[in-house]
Amino acid sequence: MAGIFEQLGYLYNPNPNTSDVVLLNTCAIRENAENRIWGVLGNLKEPKRNNKEMIIGICGCMPQEEHVVDRLLEKYREIDLVFGTHNIYRLPEFLYEITTKRNKVVEVLSFEGAIIENLPKVRANEHKAWINIMYGCDEFCTYCIVPYTRGKERSRHKDDIISEVKCLVQRGYKEITLLGQNVNAYGKDLGIDYTFGDLLRDLDATGIARIHFTTSHPRDLDLKTIIAMGECKSVMPNLHLPVQSGDNEVLKRMNRKYTHEEYVEKINLLRKYIPDISITTDIIVAFPGETEEQFVHTLELVEEVGFEGAFTFIYSPREGTPAATYPNPLTEEEKHERLNRLVEKTNEGYLKGHQRFLGRVVKVLVDGPSKNNPNLMTGYSEHRKVVNFIPANANVGDIVNVRITEAKTWFMNGEQIDE
Ligand code: SAH
Ligand code: SF4
Repeated sequence: MAGIFEQLGYLYNPNPNTSDVVLLNTCAIRENAENRIWGVLGNLKEPKRNNKEMIIGICGCMPQEEHVVDRLLEKYREIDLVFGTHNIYRLPEFLYEITTKRNKVVEVLSFEGAIIENLPKVRANEHKAWINIMYGCDEFCTYCIVPYTRGKERSRHKDDIISEVKCLVQRGYKEITLLGQNVNAYGKDLGIDYTFGDLLRDLDATGIARIHFTTSHPRDLDLKTIIAMGECKSVMPNLHLPVQSGDNEVLKRMNRKYTHEEYVEKINLLRKYIPDISITTDIIVAFPGETEEQFVHTLELVEEVGFEGAFTFIYSPREGTPAATYPNPLTEEEKHERLNRLVEKTNEGYLKGHQRFLGRVVKVLVDGPSKNNPNLMTGYSEHRKVVNFIPANANVGDIVNVRITEAKTWFMNGEQIDE
């Protein structure tokens, strides 16, 4: 959307209060993401009163929820534009309609439609790029709103992805992150004999230095992909593999379609083919009905796998999903207590994941000077660890060799050893 605005001749203004157009791209994954947006909308009432020409729009996942659109139209009269996740390409027409006729535009589609290629893009970075390879999700985990807000799984054609990456390589990009809710399902909807493992190999052949991807679903992560990860030099030895819970009954009620044991088997397979791999995860605590014993199974799994990082969440009911109707007798205090115990454990994993690199030389893609100390440079290692280091001759976008001298919970320190 930033690319569309740029092509239309708009300039970016970081201050919403003085902007001609304010467009809120929203997330619906948890209640607090939505609450933030309601707060921002409230704060925009005043600037809109002072500037009647201001256009306020809201798009993304929240408008894909019917109850959100009802509330928007009822309580936030100053909103001019509401659209969802399936018609982003129509943004120029929406803006034209509003600026020329001052009409309110509300267009939320409940069907996905085709993938629109070649929309203009603005990239936030000149050496790292994010690339969507598929949209939507067919998994229907019982807590999750994504299948409703993003629609069915649709993969981009491999040739479009490969040519986009080739173009980035030519422009000097070093790292790509392939994006999808379940990248391991890539290609299944296209009805061709070409899956995520094949895509990794073809992208490795483009000459890009580093490939990373997110997110993987443990059930769909197949051997072919794991072998490709091990064999392709550019695929970074790091995997984010959300487990959500370590208890089989909870996993079943979440509709995750794997067990604790099957998850651990996948981890063992990953470690067989990529011995040095670092593994991170997502975990939800206090899923409706989760008992203390079931929660302890999650703590045990964290210990057993040795995660080197985790995003941890308290379950948040999402209207319209099956789990929102399940009884959840835990108090807020009990939920937070579980989260704190889990975070304590996952933080140990962060630290251990850094300590294992002490004395080793790692390759760091340089992001720029460190925020806290401008004499240091900072970047990510191949295992996706933050590394602050004393530079020798490091420029932004270079991949340099750094010897690790200190390991902290959130980052590592080191010194560049290149001549
Ligand atoms: N497609 C990815 C991630 C989707 S959302 C996957 O399947 O792994 C990112 C994370 O948000 C999820 O992994 C889950 O841990 C968390 N999440 C999703 N819905 C949630 C909810 N209703 N409450 C709390 N956390 C949730
Ligand atoms: Fe949500 Fe991920 Fe499950 Fe899809 S696979 S329903 S995006 S948690």
